[in-house]
Amino acid sequence: MMRLADVRSVQVPRRCADTVHAHMRKVGHDGFEGLGLWAGRQSGDIFTVEEAIIPAQKHIRTEDGVCVITGAEELHRLNVWLYRKGLSLIAQIHSHPGRAYHSDTDDRYAVATTVGCFSLVMPDFARGPFQIERLASYRLDASGAWRAIGASQAARMIAIVE
Ligand SMILES: [Zn+2]
Repeated sequence: MMRLADVRSVQVPRRCADTVHAHMRKVGHDGFEGLGLWAGRQSGDIFTVEEAIIPAQKHIRTEDGVCVITGAEELHRLNVWLYRKGLSLIAQIHSHPGRAYHSDTDDRYAVATTVGCFSLVMPDFARGPFQIERLASYRLDASGAWRAIGASQAARMIAIVE
C-alpha cells in the first residue's frame, strides 16, 4: 500500500487550480487571505486531483496582519465528506498579502495534516497567474515539519493539466 509520502507526481486539472485561485483573488480584493484544498486519489506514486474545495473559513485581521482559519466543525464535516467519497487531501493552498512563506500560524493550524501532504502559499493576495513556480511550496515530512521545496522541484512534481 503506497502512502501519500510516496507520491512523486501530482496531477491537477486546470479547473481545480482555477477554483482555488479565483477564491483567493476574490477575498484578496477585500484584503484577506484565502484558503483552498485539493483532494483526489492516489495510484502508485501518482496522485490525481479530482476536487477543489473551498472550506468555510474565517478571515481575520490581527495586529500582525491577516490570517485564515477553518474551524473544527468544518474540518470534521470535510473529513466525513472525503471519507464518503473515498478521496484524500493532497494539498492546501492559501494566499498571503505579500511574501509567500509558511508562517508559524500556518504550521500550527494546517488543515492538511497527513505526512506527504503539500502546502502551497501564493504571494500578493493571489494577484497574477497561478503557476506552481510562483508559489512557496512545502511538504509535511515524517517528523511533522513542513519542509520547503524549491520552486523548480515543486513545478516538476505538481503539474497543472488541461
Ligand atoms: Zn500563511
